[in-house]
Amino acid sequence: MSAEFLRGATITNYGVTLFIGIGVPIPVLDADIARRTGISDAEIFTDIFDYGVPSRSRPVIRQVSYAELKSGSVQIGNEDIPAASLSSLKMARRVADALKMEIEAGRFLLTTPSIPISTRGTSRPMNQRATESVPVMLRTRPSLPEGQSVYRSPERCVHCGVCVSLCPAGVFRRDDSGDISYDASLCTECGLCMDACPHRAISVRV
Ligand code: SF4
Ligand code: SF4
Repeated sequence: MSAEFLRGATITNYGVTLFIGIGVPIPVLDADIARRTGISDAEIFTDIFDYGVPSRSRPVIRQVSYAELKSGSVQIGNEDIPAASLSSLKMARRVADALKMEIEAGRFLLTTPSIPISTRGTSRPMNQRATESVPVMLRTRPSLPEGQSVYRSPERCVHCGVCVSLCPAGVFRRDDSGDISYDASLCTECGLCMDACPHRAISVRV
């Protein structure tokens, strides 16, 4: 375990949380496991839900592959919507590299389970509370205070890409290595990114 893979975070309107990077080795014991673990992002699909509907049974807008999600935008209707992961691909690769080094050095051995998952008991579904209609809160653009500009702290940034999907001016970009670059000269000072970074890497400066 390395402290490098633990980061405190705070998400606006949610609270404090912890980002934990975990690597899980999958022993490739036969051809079937090799086939199942060898699938590409283009073969993994997930649903895009409409979070504008205040209900647990939100409608699915469309199905999308991980390859499309990781391309930086997804098409919904006639619009290209910016997309980014809340976790960091760059840090995930670092976790995988660290795990690979441990395995290659013979320091990471398979063991029997410490505690098997219990097959007894049942789980009860959560009761859904009746909801009143919730007014939709539209976020207004706050715009930066006079004379201030956006600054990204490279020490705090974990290269997750949340800011990439949010900034309409393309100030933040992900390169092929997974790094997020930052070009302050493109900033239009709209202020949308001010509370966006879970790691408080984005701030404003005079
Ligand atoms: S600045 Fe913040 S939101 Fe943007 S990539 Fe870095 S950690 Fe993520
Ligand atoms: S203030 Fe607006 S334009 Fe500038 S970096 Fe933030 S989101 Fe992008």
